[in-house]
Amino acid sequence: MVGDVLIVEDEPDIRRLVVLTLEREGFRCRAAATGTEALREVKAKVPDLVVLDLMLPEVDGLEVCRRLRADRVTSALPIIMLTAKADEVDRVVGLEMGADDYLVKPFSPRELAARARALLRRVRQRETPRALSVGTLTLDADRHLVTAGGQAVPLTPKEFDLLQALLESAGRVLSREQLLARVWGYARADEIESRTVDVHVRRLRAKLGAEGRRIATLKGVGYRFEAE
Ligand code: CA
Repeated sequence: MVGDVLIVEDEPDIRRLVVLTLEREGFRCRAAATGTEALREVKAKVPDLVVLDLMLPEVDGLEVCRRLRADRVTSALPIIMLTAKADEVDRVVGLEMGADDYLVKPFSPRELAARARALLRRVRQRETPRALSVGTLTLDADRHLVTAGGQAVPLTPKEFDLLQALLESAGRVLSREQLLARVWGYARADEIESRTVDVHVRRLRAKLGAEGRRIATLKGVGYRFEAE
């Protein structure tokens, strides 16, 4: 399986080694030596995967990760973090930063290639287009189309993403924080952002008509899409 990988590493020897290894495994590689350069490269063309060193000059890996997660376009971009210290791992994979995987230096380049393949496989499975349906409600992610009671329901992109998140977790509660992370790409939520979720849920309910009643509010907890 091939994919475009952006390698962000300020140490030239490690950068070269990672690029060589991944290219040998069939990945197309670009490299950046600083956080600023990395953000510029992502903006120029979004890669399929980012290998991101934590300790970087200028903008460090933590901040690069945070900015990618905060941008709607790159909020779900797969990130493997490289860290020199095992005790940083908690922060790296924690909610705060949200790397998908990590390796502690020194690492085996072959291990990195294996992790990269595994992560891309996971992501692509997740992205497999499929229609979700409950009752008379159908969400076709492939065609970006929602119907309820046989009628097309025009939704804004955010409403669509919100409905998709709720449907994918039908029967389970999603907190406002989880919805903000999944739909808006926010790592943290304050009071105002939490209200944004409430406002969108309210509009979504209204647009879905009778099926909108399936979106249950769990006071102080979050929202749940009732599948039954
Ligand atoms: Ca470094």
